[in-house]
Amino acid sequence: MKYALRPARAGRDYAAELNAEQYAAVTTDAKHALVIAGAGSGKTRTLTYRVAHLLDCGVAPWRILLLTFTNKAAKEMLERVGALAGAGAGQIWGGTFHSVANRMLRIHAQRLGYLPGYSILDGDDQRALFRALTKQFAGKTAKSDRFPKAEVLQSLHSLAINSGRSWEETLRCDYAHLQTHQEAIGKIFESYRTRKQESNAMDFDDLLLNLLRLLREHDDVRLDLQQRFLHVLVDEYQDTNTPQAQIIALLAGGAPCSLMVVGDDAQSIYSWRGANVDHIFEFSRTYPGAVVYKIETNYRSVPAILEISNAAIANNTRQFAKILKPAREDGAMKPAVIPAPDNRTEARFVAQRIDELMAAGIAGKDIAVLYRAHFHSMDVQMELTRNHIPYRITSGLRFFEQAHIKDIVAWLRLLANPKDDVALRRILLTFPRVGEGTAAKIAAAWMAAADAWFAQHPQALAITDAHAAVFARVPVPPAVRPHWAEFLANMDRLHPADKSLTSPELVHLVQNFMDAHLRASYENYEERLEDIGQLTRSIADAADLDAFLSQVALLSEDDSQTDPDPDSVTLSTIHQAKGLEWKIVFVIFLGEGLFPHYKVIQQTEPDGVEEELRLFYVALTRAQDQLYLSYPRYNGHSYDSRFCPPSRFLSTLPKHLYDLWEI
Ligand code: ATP
Ligand code: MG
Repeated sequence: MKYALRPARAGRDYAAELNAEQYAAVTTDAKHALVIAGAGSGKTRTLTYRVAHLLDCGVAPWRILLLTFTNKAAKEMLERVGALAGAGAGQIWGGTFHSVANRMLRIHAQRLGYLPGYSILDGDDQRALFRALTKQFAGKTAKSDRFPKAEVLQSLHSLAINSGRSWEETLRCDYAHLQTHQEAIGKIFESYRTRKQESNAMDFDDLLLNLLRLLREHDDVRLDLQQRFLHVLVDEYQDTNTPQAQIIALLAGGAPCSLMVVGDDAQSIYSWRGANVDHIFEFSRTYPGAVVYKIETNYRSVPAILEISNAAIANNTRQFAKILKPAREDGAMKPAVIPAPDNRTEARFVAQRIDELMAAGIAGKDIAVLYRAHFHSMDVQMELTRNHIPYRITSGLRFFEQAHIKDIVAWLRLLANPKDDVALRRILLTFPRVGEGTAAKIAAAWMAAADAWFAQHPQALAITDAHAAVFARVPVPPAVRPHWAEFLANMDRLHPADKSLTSPELVHLVQNFMDAHLRASYENYEERLEDIGQLTRSIADAADLDAFLSQVALLSEDDSQTDPDPDSVTLSTIHQAKGLEWKIVFVIFLGEGLFPHYKVIQQTEPDGVEEELRLFYVALTRAQDQLYLSYPRYNGHSYDSRFCPPSRFLSTLPKHLYDLWEI
């Protein structure tokens, strides 16, 4: 018998699994390519196959950079690539801009004046810092004179960076009503930046800005990365912000690199975070000679859902002209529009319908309830619970945002970065008899002592002497002293001077130190311990402490909820549902004033309502088989509990495209 060996990688029949337009994009030789197409047309699939194709062609996986909107999306795409192209997918650089930036910055942090163990401040940490600074710089005004809250300062600061403008300009254009406070805001922002730098910490925006600085100011690093990446691929390009677009241009600007971006201008929904749809409109100008691919078939939805989605987005004024034809056969039912008497009834409808669908054999994981704002999900949550239907929420509080988890993580952060001011304060506030004032004083003295120590040990990356000695001079009120001494001793026990403790052991020790605090602070102590057990398990999976802490900080970007039941129904904001699909989709709270939001309606320029319309389009196009659009005629917990007409997005839809369901 003769036995023939196949080549190591069986060439896949790409042409059979892709349509002609997709195939052309997957196999293109173009240096710069833009794939622009409507929802559900296989843009993400094209990108996935492209990566597999590149591997097939012999491109080394570590020379491919894949940028996605969530880390989870990157993981899923790389799993698919693994299934398509076999081994090697694991070595591809993939993830969000923030996580990839972090990975590059960990290597080169010292070039920018940071220690490699720098902390990442998440939204909560940022707000804590802004609150402290407001107290310091706005003092009495802050109380009397409608001074912006920490949340507002945070958005203003971030929007300026992500739209590539100065904060003064952003204040003038987008926050004009706060201009009377310009001077105090300026002081707060300045101090915010120095405080971060002094405490060896970066917020999310710094990850992007510092990567930009690294690439611009350090030619050797930029050249090295430009040589390294032969292919840069970007999903959801319509939602890139200015620093992200600049990073792509710097990385892909190097001679050997090729760039492929995919996106849909009609799904641009993050302008409030600085995303700019012009990046996709101007792609061909930014990259002269770029080849543009259009895909005109929708594979996701049944024709009736596609038709209603196309009708909805037709009211959008500025867009790439796109045709979307259905690939699928007609479904069993038209989309349903359901006016419910009130929000409770709407929730009862959703729960009962889900119950019926599940009884008919549809899996919970194939069903999603989508809404514009997290709090819109409250009634549905209650009804699902009452009906014993398991669900997972990807909006709302996430695992690592919970107070007790953050308490524990603060210790780990301080361990990795002894200058982490925010983490230290968080720990201090768990001591009995320590308030904000005392914590601030102790933290300031701690930082001075740490700086002095590092000045004497210029080569050191972490504190290697006994904490009691290094921080002996920190003044601590008598009542707090016993705790303080214990804390310093605990820091020494944790300090991996000989690196002998594993990360799970660290968590375990910290949990013991914190036990009294956890018992005293949280009524459901046992449940909290289970969460900490979960924390121990996830830290055991990480390469090391720094890697784990970056992961935790970056996770709060996407849905990181631990999901006990894999077959649960998904409850999600539309923003978080981007790029995903379900067999059955409910979109709730489609009342005028709720969606579009009444604040957006009041604005004079139409951009806000247009973005809400695109958001509506994103919601509709998540559905494969069945779509339910509902609203409460009377809403019992909105800004004013009154009668609520249907959203303009619903009332302008041609009536023959849906069935009206009367409850
Ligand atoms: P979105 O705009 O929502 O991000 P998308 O354009 O990225 O959508 P995908 O998620 O890649 O679209 O694809 C939508 C669905 O259609 C997926 O289930 C995908 O597997 C399927 N699909 C895409 N192209 C094809 C094809 N050529 N043959 C069969 N199924 C396909
Ligand atoms: Mg996609």
